[in-house]
Amino acid sequence: MCLLCDTIHTLSVHELMTTMTDTLFEKIIRGDIPCHKVYEDDETFAFLDIKPINPGHTLVIPKTAYPDLFALPQETFLAMMRAVHYLVPRIKDAVGADGINIGMNNGTAAGQEVFHAHVHIIPRFEGDGHKHWPGQPYDEGEAEEVLRKIEHTLLA
Ligand code: 5GP
Repeated sequence: MCLLCDTIHTLSVHELMTTMTDTLFEKIIRGDIPCHKVYEDDETFAFLDIKPINPGHTLVIPKTAYPDLFALPQETFLAMMRAVHYLVPRIKDAVGADGINIGMNNGTAAGQEVFHAHVHIIPRFEGDGHKHWPGQPYDEGEAEEVLRKIEHTLLA
């Protein structure tokens, strides 16, 4: 007797495909994977990160899955930002944070691990030891060259 086989047999093809192709975060929204839910509205869902940088570290995701910011429709991104704007001061007060970082990793090169677009809300505390990424100045003429490339894409 195989429990998994029995379960699969009771699912419709649609349910089976959905179960197999859903992102981790869609499974969390559906309640198939447990989470500590912080907030929900029509378009977004927010829950505590399972490995917080600091207590209160929250992920804000769109209910419709897009892999990253490059794929997100503007309206969906704005809905995420509205939820972030609502949550940031409330999470800050709740955990007594001194500051908040918000961040979004897009692409493996940027450290993204879960390919369902999400914004991190990260409470920060004086002396918590987390460092910003190190910056380094442009070489002579480099900023102008980069700016020219960006302006070119803006005109396209
Ligand atoms: P990324 O590097 O893709 O921007 O971050 C993904 C985040 O999702 C990580 O901070 C990680 O701790 C969090 N995460 C991964 N799996 C789970 C999970 O099953 N539950 C929760 N609550 N967070 C998760």
